Amino acid sequence: MQLTLAIIKPHIIKNPFSLDGIRNHIISSKFKIIKSKRKYITLKEAEHFYEEHKHKFFYNRLVTFMTSGESDLYILAKENAIKDWRALMGPTKVYKAQFEASNSIRGKYGLTDTRNATHGSDSPETAKREIELFFPEFDYE
Ligand code: ATP
Ligand code: MG
Repeated sequence: MQLTLAIIKPHIIKNPFSLDGIRNHIISSKFKIIKSKRKYITLKEAEHFYEEHKHKFFYNRLVTFMTSGESDLYILAKENAIKDWRALMGPTKVYKAQFEASNSIRGKYGLTDTRNATHGSDSPETAKREIELFFPEFDYE
């Protein structure tokens, strides 16, 4: 059993129909949502969370978007949760998601390369770091 951090991004939370669709993807793909919270990610948290992208052209756009409304944060559990959740999300770039993975979450609900519906941790180390950042009360071990 592996854990990963999923974020459902602000444009989805503003649209109950899309949120429901994404939650159905999660449940029907056999992920367990073991913790969830809805929160406004603060600018400080977003800057820390995305510090690896600090020098990229989309960084300001990204942190502005991620603090533009509430997000849902989920700790997902499953065998191979990290890889499987990223596969279910689909490619980062919206044109790729729509053309090459139209049944993926980003293929269905992504609007732009920034507003691409969801986040998923990319390794066991980042999953631990990201879960500890947003769920400090969670006993990871
Ligand atoms: P995530 O980390 O959110 O799961 P990812 O690992 O597929 O996505 P990253 O390269 O880590 O992609 O980018 C982090 C986030 O930055 C993306 O989810 C997206 O919101 C935004 N982003 C990435 N590339 C671009 C881009 N070329 N233009 C605009 N925004 C981008
Ligand atoms: Mg990433």
